Amino acid sequence: MDYYQILGVEKTASEAEIKKAYRTLALKYHPDKNPGDKDAEDKFREVSAAYQVLSDPDKRSQYDRYGRVLDEGGFSDGFSATDLFEDLFGGFGSFFGGSSSKRRQDAPMRGSSINIQRRISFEESIFGAEIEVKVKQKHLCTACNGTGAASGGISECPACAGRGMRMMRQGSFAIQTTCGNCGGTGKIVKERCSSCRGEGFVGVDKTLNINIPAGIENNMTIRAAGEGNAGLNGGGSGDLLVNIIVSPHKYYRREGNNLTAEMPIRFLDAILGREVVITLLDKTKETVKIKAGTQVGDNIILKGKGVPDVRGRGKGDLVLELKIMLPTQLTEEQRKMFLKLQKLDDDGMYEKNRSLWQRMKEFFS
Ligand SMILES: [Zn+2]
Ligand SMILES: [Zn+2]
Repeated sequence: MDYYQILGVEKTASEAEIKKAYRTLALKYHPDKNPGDKDAEDKFREVSAAYQVLSDPDKRSQYDRYGRVLDEGGFSDGFSATDLFEDLFGGFGSFFGGSSSKRRQDAPMRGSSINIQRRISFEESIFGAEIEVKVKQKHLCTACNGTGAASGGISECPACAGRGMRMMRQGSFAIQTTCGNCGGTGKIVKERCSSCRGEGFVGVDKTLNINIPAGIENNMTIRAAGEGNAGLNGGGSGDLLVNIIVSPHKYYRREGNNLTAEMPIRFLDAILGREVVITLLDKTKETVKIKAGTQVGDNIILKGKGVPDVRGRGKGDLVLELKIMLPTQLTEEQRKMFLKLQKLDDDGMYEKNRSLWQRMKEFFS
């Protein structure tokens, strides 16, 4: 491919025209502007290679005369397409708001989050609670300030001369890669810090009080900002995320913000009606009116006696599902009274409810 064509300029183009063409194309295809785009990356290298030759009078005249540059083998060591761009235009940051690979190594990095799970009781989920959690946070080692090296035990990486990056040739282009010798930090630890055994971080046990809001639902997560692991280079700490698991209750169930419980009642109370006093989940007493003629499947709803909404939007209801209990054993006296009732029954006790009476007649005849 012709270098002039790559930059889209005439063979007679001036240095200024070449620079202008390169600038336009380099900005267009810059990797920071086209993350993950292989074609743009190739284009960027092509444009940079063309510019490197055409911007240099010696190389340009060689190229004009022989169609190639004699020492053309890509960029010389320590020089790359991105460096070329940076040197000319003052760095990526000013163009794209990003940061260069060199700056990236000591850019502030936020610490990681700590994820834990805690089980709370059903009552704690309804009424809220303050729980104590123990976590092990990674703190920056104060002895080495996070470098992992004993004092004076740090030196420049000889493999990359402290740049953190190395050049790799691929065809006629040079590719910049992270230095494997130092992991991109540009520094080598000769003697490890004894406090953190070279890790730069130390584990610190911490006990925290976490507020559980009333009405929290199963599997919700509470965030304690800044209680995670320490960051690097002035980056803030991560968060502590507490995933809450709510234990089920023996009698109560939760459906949205409603509480539901099965309430056993005597069949005579269902027939005749009665007031009963029950104890609610919060241990308060409540008088409940069972109305005469209560049927199987009937509920009693106590408005506003359910779960407080976790976002503060009111309160749900308490739904008492009535379970009518029938006797399994009768005394002789009770039996006689039921027999009497049965006779009365035949005399039309149910006749008021004609459709039911009709169905029974059809079923049993
Ligand atoms: Zn240390
Ligand atoms: Zn290195």
